Amino acid sequence: MSRFDDWVTDPTLRLDALRRFASDRSCIADPFLDRYVVWESSGSSGQPAVFAQDAKAMAVYDALGFWRGPALRRTANPWSVGERVAFVGATGGHFASWVSMERLRRLNPALKGRLQSISFLQRADDLVAELNALAPAVIATYPSVAVLLAQERLAGRLDAVPREVWTGGEDLSAAAREHVQEALNCRVINSCGASEFLPLAFECLCGNLHLNSDWAILEAVDDRGREVPAGEAGATTLLTNLANHVQPLIRYDLADRVTLHAAVCACGSHHPVIDVQGRNDDTLQLGRGAPTVQILPLALSTVLEDAAGLFDFQLEQQGPCRLLLRTGLLGKGADSSLRRARAALSDFLVQQGAHGVHIHCKSGQAGRRGRSGKVQRVVAL
Ligand SMILES: [Zn+2]
Repeated sequence: MSRFDDWVTDPTLRLDALRRFASDRSCIADPFLDRYVVWESSGSSGQPAVFAQDAKAMAVYDALGFWRGPALRRTANPWSVGERVAFVGATGGHFASWVSMERLRRLNPALKGRLQSISFLQRADDLVAELNALAPAVIATYPSVAVLLAQERLAGRLDAVPREVWTGGEDLSAAAREHVQEALNCRVINSCGASEFLPLAFECLCGNLHLNSDWAILEAVDDRGREVPAGEAGATTLLTNLANHVQPLIRYDLADRVTLHAAVCACGSHHPVIDVQGRNDDTLQLGRGAPTVQILPLALSTVLEDAAGLFDFQLEQQGPCRLLLRTGLLGKGADSSLRRARAALSDFLVQQGAHGVHIHCKSGQAGRRGRSGKVQRVVAL
């Protein structure tokens, strides 16, 4: 991002203006300079990144999402006529999934009333009440949220049972998928996307993720950047986005571990099957005694990034009511960031019903890396 002006192909796109735009919540999904769709990500290196895409790139994303995404995988009602779809996730900021959702609502008036978003930054009982009132046929969300909803269903609190749950954004384990399918008695359809290329891979009827390899190139490489053989996970993965010519991403380090398989899938698709080890953060159980308060990892990340501007962090649970927040940042900036982060986190935890949680902070200490090679940002006890 420090070389943004050298890198972007339209010189009228300036990083400072984009950052100002992305910090204004009143203009989510508005066109920037009348023609660009803009979103932010926390970036693989812990530095926030901004991505701008033009109409051509968005047309590619839309087409891939429609023709290969979960909608056409449905056995009935692929157009979701008359059905409500709920997006449960981070709303209110310029995040890729939320900007895309909001943009679709504006482009397609028929979708406007049926596509609802529900923030996951609220207490679980409020979230469940919203879903019960909406009774959506489809819930699009993160695997960790889907698991939480499965638990709410088993506890008898979630009445609304969707026909399908579409997941993405985090790793979905086979166990988590089974748990959600059984508890909600619905189908789970997974996909894989990134802020750098939103519709990266979709699941086929055989349950495999297929890379949209006609528009995105992924290379699994070792720690010296050399390609690893098919069937092996690299140390990291390089992405080339063939759709976005405004902000070209060529062999961009995604920091996810991806395995590309050579064998053709039984579904007949010739797009390569991939396995992704991306974000794999824990859901925290806070409080002494039962019931504990469950806190979703992506909600914690959203609070720390969005409310406190802290992107380089690891939050480790050290006791039922004790958290350690560490950052690799140093100096005065780090201290003020941590103070802001602790205040935002405390407020958030109290709102969620987790009282009396002590948060300790440490600067100059980078988080430990998980099995994916990424820093695991939220680590449960
Ligand atoms: Zn397949």
